[in-house]
Amino acid sequence: MTIRHHLSDQLLMAYAAGQLPEAFNLVVATHVSLCDECRARAASFDAVGGVLLEEADEIAMGEDALARALERIEGLPQATRSEPLKPAGIFPAPLADYVGGDLSAVRWRKVGGGVKQAILPTGKDASARLLYIPAGTAVPDHGHRGMELTLVLQGAFADENDRFDRGDIEIADEEVEHTPVALAGEDCICLAATDAPLRFRGLIPRLAQPLLRI
Ligand SMILES: [Zn+2]
Repeated sequence: MTIRHHLSDQLLMAYAAGQLPEAFNLVVATHVSLCDECRARAASFDAVGGVLLEEADEIAMGEDALARALERIEGLPQATRSEPLKPAGIFPAPLADYVGGDLSAVRWRKVGGGVKQAILPTGKDASARLLYIPAGTAVPDHGHRGMELTLVLQGAFADENDRFDRGDIEIADEEVEHTPVALAGEDCICLAATDAPLRFRGLIPRLAQPLLRI
């Protein structure tokens, strides 16, 4: 698998700093678990945070803080380190945790035209959803009021700008107006996050918007 579309430095930095809304966090963590390149970049931003911490002025804690922490650790059940977390089907570990399993655990709702979605439980400052787009089907063209991240988990889609395969992430902002089309072959499944409602040009999608929460 060759991933050609990666996370921006801006997003990786915000992720390392813990500043992203939960929905974006989930998309970034899922891409990072699929992409060696972005995992390495994320680690280097983490290292920057570590240096900042080391250079920060110390604040003394209570005298018995260390003893109390050690006591608590001793009381914890021993972690069993067996094999690394295996991805459950097409969902990498962070996403499988959210869904509570793989595809069979997803409760899809019809959006129209064969497209289905499942909204994931995240904080309200942004929303995350799984999208199911049958091969050869288009999503209504739309613009964005905020930022939209779309990560491909199965199949592929293309829009006016490029082609996106499993692991690829598309970062769309207010400037982008696009019509994603799932490519022929395999049905396309994506994880998408938005921090503002999408702007549809067509009347019907606009009317349906409040119902679908997109
Ligand atoms: Zn990447």
